[in-house]
Amino acid sequence: MKQTPKIIANATAENRKYLLETEAKTICMEYGIPVTKFKLAKNEAETVKFAEEIGFPVVLKIVSPDIIHKSDVGGVMLNLKDRKEVRAAYKQIMKNVKKHKKDAKIVGLIVQEMAPPSTEVIVGAIKDPQFGPALMFGLGGVFVEVLKDVTFKIAPITEAEACEMLTDIKAYPLLSGYRNMPPADTEAIVKILLNTSRLVTEHMEIKELDLNPIMVYTKGAKTVDARIILE
Ligand code: ADP
Ligand code: MG
Repeated sequence: MKQTPKIIANATAENRKYLLETEAKTICMEYGIPVTKFKLAKNEAETVKFAEEIGFPVVLKIVSPDIIHKSDVGGVMLNLKDRKEVRAAYKQIMKNVKKHKKDAKIVGLIVQEMAPPSTEVIVGAIKDPQFGPALMFGLGGVFVEVLKDVTFKIAPITEAEACEMLTDIKAYPLLSGYRNMPPADTEAIVKILLNTSRLVTEHMEIKELDLNPIMVYTKGAKTVDARIILE
């Protein structure tokens, strides 16, 4: 049973343009885009239970249709190492959210594995009224924000085009292995680009998509945050 059309229909019925992280990551999984293991908890007891099931260290984040930038409201807590830290973080997040956004509707907390730090890349998609969806690729952090070292291609892309997107950016040497940095799994990135291309071409309801950041390892990659905005 396909989840993606259901998730989109459900959000549309609820008059929501912004998908929850749990929804966006479920869609990613359906399209073969690797994401952190995650579960949606509705209360403190569930949060602790799911943290144990996923395995420490974990990350907790607020899940609310009214909060797009979770860390801006103190809604993200990283690297929680045991039950005690999880309980404290649960209370802290609830307190922060109430303080910063009193009326936000809270769906729950997403409990997820803590992805070890690594090279961060960004894959995005944005729909151009004239050309349709375009894919974006770049390295995370200062590379995108300060240096604007990003590249775009109109979807759908071929595998050769996905490979080109990687070599297009100036920071490419940082991916292919530079000094003591091991080479990143570029094949995994190419696969993510191709699957994102397929997702946005099959679902024209998607106006914007943002996988930011994706941790890339010497073997494999993991999407840590996923945002999808509907038309
Ligand atoms: P925001 O809505 O503020 O963008 P994110 O989910 O991106 O929230 O979390 C903020 C930052 O916390 C991320 O950019 C990343 O550096 C870190 N982070 C989030 N989730 C994880 C995770 N599962 N593992 C490791 N780091 C994470
Ligand atoms: Mg983010």
